Amino acid sequence: MINLEGKEVAMAHREKIKREIEEQGIEAGLAVILVGDDPASKSYVASKEKACREAGIRSIVFQLKKETSEEEVLKKIEELNLDASITGILVQIPLPDHIDENRVVEKIDPWKDVDGLHPFNFGKLFMGNSVVEPCTPKGIIHVLDHYKIDLAGKNAVVLGRSNIVGKPIAALLLQRNATVTICHSKTKNLKELSLSADILVAAIGKPLFVTAEMVKEGAVVIDVGINRIEDKTKLSGYRVVGDVDFESVSRKASAITPVPGGVGLLTIAMLLDNTLTLARIQQAKAA
Ligand code: NDP
Repeated sequence: MINLEGKEVAMAHREKIKREIEEQGIEAGLAVILVGDDPASKSYVASKEKACREAGIRSIVFQLKKETSEEEVLKKIEELNLDASITGILVQIPLPDHIDENRVVEKIDPWKDVDGLHPFNFGKLFMGNSVVEPCTPKGIIHVLDHYKIDLAGKNAVVLGRSNIVGKPIAALLLQRNATVTICHSKTKNLKELSLSADILVAAIGKPLFVTAEMVKEGAVVIDVGINRIEDKTKLSGYRVVGDVDFESVSRKASAITPVPGGVGLLTIAMLLDNTLTLARIQQAKAA
């Protein structure tokens, strides 16, 4: 069984980005908007900020109160769209319920959309003509490529259909000639479908949901889930687990990503990658 370690792959990619930024004198500036004080979101934003700093990307975090109105968020995005020193904009999702995520994402200048979620970028992704791809799916493909896992003709089953993970990873797997099935909460024969998977991607946000009896012998399993479950033995009172029961599934899978230390680290590396791509485009436009 291969442990698809994200750490080594992600760190190597981050080093490469850092070198390119230095050598090519790229001035990248990432603005991150965080609305509210959800502890998980705050910790993701802190990790993204640190990664930017280490790569030589200037990052500014706008921490807005939970009560901030949708109009105020849209106004902030408009300002950042017009600010030439900002080459990338990221709005940390989820947003509070009173803010429409779609309206927010659509407000971002598509050429500053480092998450690749604007309809322009999402459309290009599905046309196989992407500029930037959503970070988590891009990270998954990156790790599969690194470990030379061939996708052509394979049955790929994606659990989850969110815009941020499920739909875009399905599009990328399809581009790599996998035969793709997308499952969601209304799927009736989920176990049967997941058992048919040569490549199984779990992105549903349910701790340890995928167990060994749902996985085919020799399958490649990608665990996207990041779930906090209570653990009184930890100082923090919780521990982080994926959507996959690693212990049982790793005995059947031919390869599996661990949580933590898998897809999450790749997501951050791909955020830097997208930030660099868009900064380059803007630098070229301004020249
Ligand atoms: P969402 O809540 O947006 O989507 C969850 C999806 O799972 C939905 O499509 C939902 O179906 C489906 N689902 C929920 N329950 C079931 C079920 N019992 N059976 C089948 N499908 C089900 O989640 P995200 O995509 O944003 O995130 C998923 C997980 O990945 C979370 O743990 C999140 O923290 C993690 N994540 C990790 C990232 C990383 O960098 N590693 C990045 C982003 C997310 P329906 O559409 O019908 O409601």
